[in-house]
Amino acid sequence: MAGFGDPALQIQLNDRGGAEVCQPLFAFLLSIRQACAGRREPLIFEPPVFLPLLAMPLPARILVVGSGGREHALVKACLASPTHPRVIAAPGNGGIALEAPCFPVLADDLAAIVALAKREQIEYAIVGPEVPLSLGLVDALVAAGIPAYGPKRDGARLEASKIFTKQLLQKYRIPTAPAAIFTEVVPALNYLRTRPVPIVVKADGLAAGKGVIVAQTVAEAESAVRDMLEGGLFGESGRRVLIEDCLFGEETSVHLIVSGRDYLTLPIAQDHKRVGDNDTGPNTGGMGTYSPAEVVTPDLLARIDREICRPSVDAIAAEGIDFRGTLFIGLMLTAEGPQVLEYNTRFGDPETQVILPRLATDPLALMWAATQGRLHEIKLDVKPDYAVCIVVAARGYPGHYHKGEPITLPSVLPPETWVAHAGTALDSRHQLVSAGGRVLGICASARSLRVAADRAYSVCAGLQFASKYFRRDIGARQLNRQ
Ligand code: ATP
Repeated sequence: MAGFGDPALQIQLNDRGGAEVCQPLFAFLLSIRQACAGRREPLIFEPPVFLPLLAMPLPARILVVGSGGREHALVKACLASPTHPRVIAAPGNGGIALEAPCFPVLADDLAAIVALAKREQIEYAIVGPEVPLSLGLVDALVAAGIPAYGPKRDGARLEASKIFTKQLLQKYRIPTAPAAIFTEVVPALNYLRTRPVPIVVKADGLAAGKGVIVAQTVAEAESAVRDMLEGGLFGESGRRVLIEDCLFGEETSVHLIVSGRDYLTLPIAQDHKRVGDNDTGPNTGGMGTYSPAEVVTPDLLARIDREICRPSVDAIAAEGIDFRGTLFIGLMLTAEGPQVLEYNTRFGDPETQVILPRLATDPLALMWAATQGRLHEIKLDVKPDYAVCIVVAARGYPGHYHKGEPITLPSVLPPETWVAHAGTALDSRHQLVSAGGRVLGICASARSLRVAADRAYSVCAGLQFASKYFRRDIGARQLNRQ
């Protein structure tokens, strides 16, 4: 017999006389089912049931690939889908393992991920990180008959090669900083001397966030060029470099769910890249986010859409790339207007931790529709709440830091608060321990940014591990503006 969450039943309901009538009934039946099953996800991850969901059967067995806070948010969002799919992760982390079975398969071991997906009869794989995407994990899964969220290798090049992206931006006249490409030191140094400082030197390939040097002096830029082209810093990724004019302004980003020429714009989230308060110290993977980011006003968003998003999606399609996944566009809001800093081809981390809980439309339905080429059938609804994520790192990150420290979390969390595990593991005694530089993301939602931040910071204060460190000013810029 079909259960309330079963795709078959959804279609019957839809066919039988109007989703408008069925929707409240369906939601009511689901709530009874959830209560009976004793598994209510936190309210913040509970999207209402929307019409597209009723019309589109969703996959029932899902694999989330990756091991960070982003993947924890993806797992939670899938678990909270009204259809209650079975969700597994590979490799996952200590927090994901408390909610979904985790399999010790590395995200970039393509053959092993495909084998796992086959063995577990996975109907949909969601690939979190950029490295497996750039290696062609989606291509491999699709070739094995398993639909997957994320671009294929050709689309992932938009993140994996800064030169490829710069050439695309230039070809389609999408606003970006002037830049030149070099493989030899001497012409690179000659070019450098013709440009103003600061100047930006970028390794072409992926370098885990370390391949971009914003050089304040010519000498600093020269040594970055030499390190990459002569010294082998970043290996293959640094064999070609981009030398780019420095842009000035406030940095922001926009996440699009793309399916060919269709796309939906997700709520804007603002990251905090530097390790220290007031944007001091070295760049990190991200020390905290909040959403909505009001620096991007509706007028500015319309301009970004007109000048950046639509031209980018069209340019990618015009290059023959059938992009189905997340396009995360890094932007500098300059005095001349928004300009593209970079494309990423996956969800941001920690942006995902604040974006997904704000969606009133089921994130699983969004991703699945993009993969199926049916994104135009979806209407994106966003909750009015504010969301914040404070990254709790191990002191020393992004440099050297300790791992293996026991973590104690508060036994009770404030309302609408959750913990995104990033660098955590369960040790042999099932004790939660630190296992990375960014350890946890403390996430909260509320009707105001102030309340959301207070809730998250109260958890940061209450949790314990030996080298706990976090920024105290996540969201402060927006709060000060208000
Ligand atoms: P990696 O490839 O090593 O992972 P990344 O993808 O993080 O690096 P980018 O996002 O291109 O690289 O650059 C990192 C940061 O450098 C940006 O967030 C921005 O702060 C700064 N940056 C990059 N390009 C420019 C520029 N042209 N002008 C000013 N700042 C820049």
